Amino acid sequence: MDQFSRETFLNSLAQTTDAPYLIAVEKAEGIYLYSPEGKRYTDLVSGIGVSNIGHRHPVVVQAIKDQLDKHLHVMVYGEYIQATPNLLAAKLTSLLPPSLNCCYFVNSGTEANEGALKLAKRYTGRTEIVSFRKSYHGSTHGSMSVSGNEVKKQAFRPLLPDVRFIHFNMPGELDAITTQTACVIVETIQGDAGVRVPDKAYMKALRKRCDETGALLILDEIQCGMGRTGTLFAFEQFGIVPDILTVAKAFGGGLPIGAFVANRTLMKSLTHDPMLGHITTFGGNPVCCAAALATLQVIEDEKLLEGVEAKGELFETLLKHPRIKEVRRIGLLFAIDFDSAEFVSRIVEEAKKLGIICYWFLSHPYSFRIAPPLTIAPEEIEESCVGILKAIDNASR
Ligand code: PMP
Repeated sequence: MDQFSRETFLNSLAQTTDAPYLIAVEKAEGIYLYSPEGKRYTDLVSGIGVSNIGHRHPVVVQAIKDQLDKHLHVMVYGEYIQATPNLLAAKLTSLLPPSLNCCYFVNSGTEANEGALKLAKRYTGRTEIVSFRKSYHGSTHGSMSVSGNEVKKQAFRPLLPDVRFIHFNMPGELDAITTQTACVIVETIQGDAGVRVPDKAYMKALRKRCDETGALLILDEIQCGMGRTGTLFAFEQFGIVPDILTVAKAFGGGLPIGAFVANRTLMKSLTHDPMLGHITTFGGNPVCCAAALATLQVIEDEKLLEGVEAKGELFETLLKHPRIKEVRRIGLLFAIDFDSAEFVSRIVEEAKKLGIICYWFLSHPYSFRIAPPLTIAPEEIEESCVGILKAIDNASR
């Protein structure tokens, strides 16, 4: 059988769109993907926010191999003492403010948010959740309930009750957060809304309102965390600390792992009333934890955060084209706006022909995203920008 059969892909694997991207990938290394025919693609989207340290980073691959030689899954979450979850929890909390000192490992972003929402309800004894228009928090029922895209939710109701939506970065609406509110869940930088960076004063006002009302603040850094914005976590740039932080995507360096992180007094509430308040079979899988631990080490050892802003600026300087309407950027996370969704699709297709992967956003069709591995070199940025500008020209014809 042709391993890369398009027919099998289209018929035996569930499809979620009528227009999948449809390149075949045999190998990936650094910022590049390679097709079975040897065509090289520059991955400017990091597999949607995952490959922040590049594909198959050798340190991550080695850590995975080392763990494979010890043990794979041995028990459900939270029962046996295993080295890699222990080391990962110690490392992650050492990089966070002291109040965020306890980690719960899960398997994905949406699960991290599910856990965070449950923890907030359990700890506060309240039911109401405040979220934001245009937000994206995942595709399972709870995370979808607090996501802002109405079109995506319509067919799946009823969803969670007691969710109120306010506009992002609008201080006048913070009054919606009250003493009834269990938690506010918010992306520090709205990603799939097309990279919306809030004002620092707004984030401080949001933190203050949560403090005044006793609502817990959940920051979803699943897309904007892990160095993407130039600091390990984006909230560091806003002078606030969440009550619960959620991470996933790039956290695992290419393996599936997420986490919700909080203070241990909060987290303790999952041990009683009911006991086993949140459980998972595979959360904290030792191989995934080994990969995540190695990823944090790579970010530190290679001083990847230091280069992010300059690389972002280089992209911004080089990406000048009369068809570009607006560029929104923080660190190495970009939304490039054009005047129609149809034109964006043409650019994405033209870029693909040129071996460059850019991609659209879930809730903002007039833009494409650029979020390359943080390891991208200046020459590779230059080469990529030449390709993107050519793709825009080609799409304009
Ligand atoms: N939160 C944010 C901000 C995200 O960008 C995503 C994924 N795009 C998720 C949550 C959900 O993550 P996952 O797909 O791993 O469930």
